[in-house]
Amino acid sequence: MAERALKPVPNDQPSGATYRLSKSRFTSGLQCHKKLWWEVHEPDAIELQPDKVLQDLFDQGRQVGEAARQRYPGGVLIDLPHSAGAARVAATQKALAEGAPAVFEATFIADETFVAIDVLERQGDGYRLTEVKSSSSQKDEHIPDVAVQARVAAACGVNITAAEVLHLNKEFRHPDSGDLFARTDVTGPVAAFVAQVPDEIARQRKMLAGPLPDVPVGLHCFEPRDCPFMDRCWPDAPDHIRHLAGVGPKRTAAYLARGISSIKDLPPRDKLNFTQRRQLKAMAEECLIVEPTLARELVPFTGPRVGFLDFETIARAIPVWPGMAPWQQAAAQFSYHERQPDGTYTHAAFLAEGPRDARPPLVEAMVRATANAERVATYTAFEKTRIRELQEAVPELDAELAALEAKLIDLHPVVRNCVYHPDFRGSFSLKYILTPLVPELTYNDLVIVDGRVASVEIARLLFVADKIPRQERDRVRQDLLNYCERDTWAMVKLVERLGELAGTHTRPTP
Ligand code: SF4
Repeated sequence: MAERALKPVPNDQPSGATYRLSKSRFTSGLQCHKKLWWEVHEPDAIELQPDKVLQDLFDQGRQVGEAARQRYPGGVLIDLPHSAGAARVAATQKALAEGAPAVFEATFIADETFVAIDVLERQGDGYRLTEVKSSSSQKDEHIPDVAVQARVAAACGVNITAAEVLHLNKEFRHPDSGDLFARTDVTGPVAAFVAQVPDEIARQRKMLAGPLPDVPVGLHCFEPRDCPFMDRCWPDAPDHIRHLAGVGPKRTAAYLARGISSIKDLPPRDKLNFTQRRQLKAMAEECLIVEPTLARELVPFTGPRVGFLDFETIARAIPVWPGMAPWQQAAAQFSYHERQPDGTYTHAAFLAEGPRDARPPLVEAMVRATANAERVATYTAFEKTRIRELQEAVPELDAELAALEAKLIDLHPVVRNCVYHPDFRGSFSLKYILTPLVPELTYNDLVIVDGRVASVEIARLLFVADKIPRQERDRVRQDLLNYCERDTWAMVKLVERLGELAGTHTRPTP
């Protein structure tokens, strides 16, 4: 499963200039030979060291794998380190010979390629190969992953008669509504792909024995997942075409395919939207552009009793609170600043504690904190979506949540519609626009500076608190409170700054 993707393969290089593959190396090589080359030749590269977010993904994948095994009574786990390749192969052969109904982590080596199959299940004269995924659907990228396992097992004499992906079921609801897993049969697409596997294995092994291959950047850098080596391959130029506002990986790749790598190379006849035209003008003139509409759009944010709300959430593969689906986000923390009639600000905050459902106490605290607000500002519609989910999770406060939703106003479109600074680099996310617009307010003094890290840290505090020393728990809690508070204070300062711009620095575009 995914946790092996970034680790060196056991019993790695046989003598001579040949390199052993694994299923994760094989799929990595399918994405990009250059990426695989670095993974094999620089396994200690800084880019390959899992950060907290990636480590959490691995941990959740492991939990899903363990839960999946409960479905196969009598299954035998090949419980040996991955470095013990030959011993694992022998243990697999023994389990199969002894008639185990299912073997977990069944290990085979052929074509200098190592695979450990999540579940190899006896079925009549043959075996069904099952790949367990913590995603909530079967994806195209799973096919080559399963195909390389099927090819290697078959080369070792195993009669694979069926292949499937066992993934999380998006219809499941905690604690026990429906089945946590869903199966998707992939026998047909895997059989169609298997024929390509030997040639691709040979290409990858030949490539690994040579120098770093020259691979141009493109859509493959993002699909099926972001490559960790982007900073090595992609130019950092602020006018790179990928920084054109509203352009994602697909359109970036399409521009590159047309030979357009810089925003200044855009042909004049290319159609650009209003935001992009404003961006080009700001870049050409190296100045901040403010539309004359800013003052009008800012009006709802400038009265007394305007609040500023921000959530942090958890998202767990195996859901943890009543009614939640796999990977569903749930608010577990909020910060709230409110402007008072005298121009000062009050602050309220909530951070879940302990594994029990945090949504009812969070909603109670939030309803109390926002009761007197005339309007409540957020940055994007993220909070609105979470509040709607909270209405389902805490139906006894449904009316109060509906009243809060009716007060919400979104600051994000105001910035997107009215302001552009060349340092936005095509993004209107709060973290990108804050420094250019409010340079005195930074996150540099904070330990947690990223919502994904905050999410993982909250989950750690809630669900594995007993494994964290008390002192560290207190420190992480404070780090989380500081981070969320900074997000709402950033909105406060942003509105102040926008107010100054609307009043004094208006510079309309034609
Ligand atoms: S950034 Fe793109 S080109 Fe560079 S190694 Fe990754 S996938 Fe390959």
